[in-house]
Amino acid sequence: MRWTERQRAMLREMGVPPFWPEEAEAPAETVTESAAAPVLPVAAAGAPVAPPAVPQRPVAATPAAPARAPIGRPPAMADKPAPIEAPLGARPAGVDTMDWAALRTTVASCHACSLGASRKQAVFGVGHEQADWMIVGEAPGEQEDREGEPFVGRAGQLLDRMLHAIDLTRGEDAPARQVFIANVLKCRPPANRNPQPQEVSQCEPYLLRQMALVQPKVVLAMGRFAVQSLLKTSEPIGKLRGRVHTVQGVPVVVTYHPAYLLRNPADKALAWADLCLAREVRAEAG
Ligand code: SF4
Repeated sequence: MRWTERQRAMLREMGVPPFWPEEAEAPAETVTESAAAPVLPVAAAGAPVAPPAVPQRPVAATPAAPARAPIGRPPAMADKPAPIEAPLGARPAGVDTMDWAALRTTVASCHACSLGASRKQAVFGVGHEQADWMIVGEAPGEQEDREGEPFVGRAGQLLDRMLHAIDLTRGEDAPARQVFIANVLKCRPPANRNPQPQEVSQCEPYLLRQMALVQPKVVLAMGRFAVQSLLKTSEPIGKLRGRVHTVQGVPVVVTYHPAYLLRNPADKALAWADLCLAREVRAEAG
């Protein structure tokens, strides 16, 4: 496969070493974050270096996944309903049939778990509402809580570079390449603590409804909480990646969270293999 100069630059920024046969760069001239990443095994002089292995793709279906019903397009914003108020601990009924406008206003006013009291704002998600790709992360952090958008800051910048490397973007200038990005939790856990099980269970219907509305061709689940919540498992990412799972009939590929990759650059090559798997799944979906 031949890569554009921009894709090669993005992969270097991800910290993925040059492993494709056509590359013959002089690494000493490219001092980026990739310098901290380990060098993949090098073949004999003159021979191409093998890419990180993209594992075979047995399909693992989640047993509780219900069939997805056809979903209509969201109505015009003029139909935006009034916020649905709910007491603490209760989630409004009918989330599984809400359109985009109702879902947005319901999440914005939700207090179905204690995080509703400590957040600055709920972080609903961003991107194209009928994107082929959906990215699912864990929960808003401090900056996301302040700005109202998922995956901002350094981890968000790395996610953007990862998306660009496979010709995707969260920007609005190229709808055909857009993704929809959402978190399992819509509100920030105080002090960035881990999400609690009851918070995940209360918030999960919103994410599942987002998936039903987007109807993506592939979901990329990033990080332990997103993966374990979506797949209903306690297995670590290392045992779940490299396979295609299904949730609500949608193929799901799992990978590491960009924040983890910033702390563990050695695993960026594994994340790149996961992106390649997800891209393959998307291509097969037509
Ligand atoms: S985290 Fe989810 S369930 Fe909890 S208050 Fe926010 S939107 Fe509601």
